[in-house]
Amino acid sequence: MAAKNVVLTFDDACRSHLEFVVPVLQKYGFGATFFISVPERWYTEFPGAFLSGEEIFEIHRLGFEIGNHTLNHPGLREKCDAECRFELSSLNEFLAKYGITAPVSFAYPGGPYAANAAAILPEFGLRFARTTEHDIWIKDKTDPLQIPCFAITDKDEANFHQALELLNDGGDDRAAVILYHGVPDEAHPWCNTSPELFEKQMQYLKGNGYTVISMAEFGR
Ligand SMILES: [Zn+2]
Repeated sequence: MAAKNVVLTFDDACRSHLEFVVPVLQKYGFGATFFISVPERWYTEFPGAFLSGEEIFEIHRLGFEIGNHTLNHPGLREKCDAECRFELSSLNEFLAKYGITAPVSFAYPGGPYAANAAAILPEFGLRFARTTEHDIWIKDKTDPLQIPCFAITDKDEANFHQALELLNDGGDDRAAVILYHGVPDEAHPWCNTSPELFEKQMQYLKGNGYTVISMAEFGR
């Protein structure tokens, strides 16, 4: 039987994650990972578009996984080891201030794999790291610090079905990892997914019997 595991991930601590996404996930009984980055420039430039520490805690309290996406969202390939460590530890400290336990999952800011950062992730207890390369996650085959995914926006709706189709060739050791930004995305319109499209895709997963979980849950 084909695998039916879908891992949902949501990047960048958008306000719509708590206001719209979480209630939809709860309605369907789905798990998910929320990757948090809190650059000061985002909060200054787009007041109200991003989640506060208390609101991120609320997502954690409701049972969803919180992941590390760095403090300032820099491209990590260009950063030295000390800067990578600062980005990882500062985000963990931010989360700890709000009572959120240190994450085990990470997503590379901007998407691409950064080998220099991957070498450092285990120091911080980060066991799973998501890139944005299109493929599926196969346990015991995929490098857990280089987990591929399919990003969905209104312009890339086809990625959703392309990801699910890749599950057809194998067993329960594989998952399709899907990435959304804001639903909708007030600050970064090029990443926008409309609530209508999101609801349609969640309905599709529910109606077709997919198991929808967080990165840590599938990885363990
Ligand atoms: Zn991001």
